[in-house]
Amino acid sequence: MQILVTGGAGFIGGHLAESFLADGHDVTVLDNFEPFYAEGIKRHTLDVHREVADEGDSEYRFVEGDVRDPETVHKIVDDTDIVVHQAAQAGVRESVDNPRTVTDINVDGTVNLLEASKEADVKRVILASSSSVYGKPHSLPYEEDHPTEPVSPYGVTKLTQEHMARVYTELHGLPTVCLRYFTVYGPRMRPNMAISNFVSRCLNGEPPVIYGDGQQTRDFTYVADVVDANRTLLDSDAADGDVVNIGSSDNISIQELAETVRDQLAPELEIVYESAREADAEHTHASVEKAGELIGYEPSRTITEGVGEFIEWYQANREWYEPLVRSS
Ligand code: NAD
Repeated sequence: MQILVTGGAGFIGGHLAESFLADGHDVTVLDNFEPFYAEGIKRHTLDVHREVADEGDSEYRFVEGDVRDPETVHKIVDDTDIVVHQAAQAGVRESVDNPRTVTDINVDGTVNLLEASKEADVKRVILASSSSVYGKPHSLPYEEDHPTEPVSPYGVTKLTQEHMARVYTELHGLPTVCLRYFTVYGPRMRPNMAISNFVSRCLNGEPPVIYGDGQQTRDFTYVADVVDANRTLLDSDAADGDVVNIGSSDNISIQELAETVRDQLAPELEIVYESAREADAEHTHASVEKAGELIGYEPSRTITEGVGEFIEWYQANREWYEPLVRSS
């Protein structure tokens, strides 16, 4: 298959492209190196892609370009079988500071992609959505029909993206699937996320910092599970036109998470608490029943297992990854 991964130099898109290449697919990555965190992590990801492509017989192409540019997008989508759309300004807090940028990238960029995919008769567009579309919980775990009341500009853009995808399916018959990811972590993860931050601080003898009282809970998803869900959807129409949660269902409080990392790496450190940040969801918890029924999705790790694996990976890759994490 010829697969386009937008945002493929980033954390999740990088793992998706790597896995598709290893499976023998031809992959094009489109990314503009949005300066949201250290570019070096993305450059490293592209090197991994080239190595995997060289080991097999898949074709790999990297295009530096912007999803906001309709011409670039139309050119690149031509001859594509599947579009896997990950490019976005990710991150809730950045969206509070820069609502216009986040809207341009996440909404206008998505429309460019859907429009080009419709014209090119793409077989399926798989879009990265987010648990941020839910906002305040009425009941937990979130099932997909839970009310959507996002509490950040980021969440609003992801919800708009979902509606836009649905409309393209209904109006134009373009198969689309939106996967609502719940906080994803794993190798090469974005530096500004709690897990990489806690690990980096503890390894450097600095106390982990929690914003708020630490009682907020999160459903953390190991990146390999996100990859599995996307891989299944490459040749399954089971979720076309639908939205599906991708989480672990194993939620944990931020305090427990910080303690897990701290106890493993630097038990002598005292956790530091600072005031809560605006627009962060209080609790996230995924029901993955629908994902299980539609695509046989099953989370592969508990959070404790996954964090342990991430710590091992971090230590093995500390030399190149840590300076980039700390400069982001
Ligand atoms: P990331 O920032 O690592 O990856 C996004 C990539 O998109 C980056 O490489 C960036 O350079 C690229 N990009 C940004 N704007 C672009 C543009 N205008 N044109 C082309 N490329 C552009 O983020 P991630 O964590 O890998 O997230 C991937 C997707 O998953 C995003 O859509 C995000 O909203 C969604 N998501 C992520 C999480 C998570 O916990 N990581 C949770 C829910 C949803």
